[in-house]
Amino acid sequence: MRDQAARPSTGEQGLNRRALIGGLGAAAVAAPFAGASVARAAEAPGTLALPSEMEAPRALAMKTFSRIDGTPVYYWRSNRGNTALRNWQCTQAFYDRLVVWIRDLRDLSGDAGAGNVSFLVSAGFYVNKPGQHGQGTAMDLDLVRWAGGRQSSPLDRHHAAGDRTLRRRYLAVDAVCRRRFRYVLDGWYNSAHADHIHADFGGLPTVCEKGSRSDTVFVQAMCNNFMGSGLAVDGAWGPLTQSAFDRAKSRLNITGNPHTNYSVWRTMMARVARHGFGDQAF
Ligand SMILES: [Zn+2]
Repeated sequence: MRDQAARPSTGEQGLNRRALIGGLGAAAVAAPFAGASVARAAEAPGTLALPSEMEAPRALAMKTFSRIDGTPVYYWRSNRGNTALRNWQCTQAFYDRLVVWIRDLRDLSGDAGAGNVSFLVSAGFYVNKPGQHGQGTAMDLDLVRWAGGRQSSPLDRHHAAGDRTLRRRYLAVDAVCRRRFRYVLDGWYNSAHADHIHADFGGLPTVCEKGSRSDTVFVQAMCNNFMGSGLAVDGAWGPLTQSAFDRAKSRLNITGNPHTNYSVWRTMMARVARHGFGDQAF
């Protein structure tokens, strides 16, 4: 498979994500959050407990957080729209990267007049399962909301929205993730990621690999939505994908090699993000 490098690192491919979410939903029905949170209320007033699968054993040194750099992160998988603060967990190093990431997100979207990022919605960071989530080095991003009212909702499958503005905005969020995380798995990667963007530490540094399905489907979707390239989003980096990618690099004034130099790829992703938030072709 072309994405062999991604498979062992992410640990998600072998799991049926939908089944997992269904499982958590079922657990929530059996043990409502209101009841589950009672025991925690004394030690963390104002926050509600997550499903037990998202609480790391004490032996794993994890940072607990409810906001990233001041921006709240909500959980909507059991109750859409709720704004209760949650105790998320991940490693300190991953949290530090989340801070850099959200500052990128604010900067790159702010120029398009979206206003500040008012909140994020996540489906999980640390989760007791194999792979990057189990190591506390992954995020599942469900939604970004800006103060001006705009949002990007992987949860609502905006990668496949009929409205190109929403698809470009999704690609902008996706691109910001790719500046700071690797691997990033999105709605084009497979059906298990149709309703969230997964970002992890499994394949750093952040470069673009032609042999990676996760990178290739992103590049193909990017070329289609910003340049009308008409590529099949199939994850196979062939000559048509190569020529569209070269055109994108040229139009974005990218010099250097984004396949080997992470700062070149990060610069390219910043320019893609600005175009996406601004709904501009390139
Ligand atoms: Zn994930």
